[in-house]
Amino acid sequence: MGGLIDGRKIANEIQRSVREKCLALKAADGKTPMLISLTVGNGKDSEIYVKAQEQAALATGIDFDVCKLENDVSQSTILDKIQALNMDDAVTAVIVQHPLPTKIDHHVVISSLTPEKDAEGIHPSNLGKIFRREADILPCTPGAVMKILNANNVGLFGKEVVIIGHSPIVGKPLSLMMLNETATTTVCHIGTAQKGDIKSHTSRADILVVAVGKPAFVKSDWIKEGAVVVDVGINNIEGKIVGDVDFDDVKKRASLITPVPGGVGPVTVSILMRNVLRAYKAQHDEL
Ligand code: NAD
Repeated sequence: MGGLIDGRKIANEIQRSVREKCLALKAADGKTPMLISLTVGNGKDSEIYVKAQEQAALATGIDFDVCKLENDVSQSTILDKIQALNMDDAVTAVIVQHPLPTKIDHHVVISSLTPEKDAEGIHPSNLGKIFRREADILPCTPGAVMKILNANNVGLFGKEVVIIGHSPIVGKPLSLMMLNETATTTVCHIGTAQKGDIKSHTSRADILVVAVGKPAFVKSDWIKEGAVVVDVGINNIEGKIVGDVDFDDVKKRASLITPVPGGVGPVTVSILMRNVLRAYKAQHDEL
């Protein structure tokens, strides 16, 4: 069993479409959308993500720049910088790299961005639009999971979907997006685990999405035969990147499964580029 989902292929298709639209914009009036990556501190933890963003921007014809602030920068200086980026007409969208120093309130920083420049789709206004089914700029990883299912003709209506992980950037918005597609959606988390109940949920899932941050956390005896398994996890084990799913074991029972690397990750960064283009559209209303 275990058909492999090719995240890189899906990512390339999204990037090709974004590139075509960016080229058309440039041809029409010489304009190019611009993404700013705002990092605080030496950015060692986010280096790999910034590099991937830079490569995807290059591939899609989006201008890209890094705005680096010192590790000891105050929250008010970050907010001033964001205000300046909000006011700068040349800047289409901003991504704030994780992690921020602990003294900085990530929620306050994101909320200070103008929602139309929120590259990650995590400003409260953009998250609220998911509730109303009006979201255009989607949170990148949930957007990637939805795209992966759609690209593989996995319908959601009436399906049992189980998501493990309820973080504000993955599990929570994804659960609402699944509900919007009329899936029967269950979200498991640390509380479910402590009650010893996770398997009773995962074993009925037609579609299982895992975003926990624990290598090889999900085993084959947790899943229903023929389930579609989407592994969001990224864990660095002595330099090797692995997901949250015990891939070799689970692929024997899954009908479709995403690998790590090469699954959700590349699609996520492509959705980020699509968000920048959509942000440009919202600001210019010309595409
Ligand atoms: P997080 O740390 O914010 O949240 C972890 C979630 O897992 C929480 O809901 C928590 O309750 C749950 N959890 C923890 N231990 C559990 C257990 N024993 N049983 C059940 N649930 C448990 O995580 P996050 O930011 O959503 O990231 C999760 C994983 O996804 C990480 O590996 C991260 O690197 C990865 N990630 C990947 C992408 C991508 O583009 N592929 C994007 C974001 C995050």
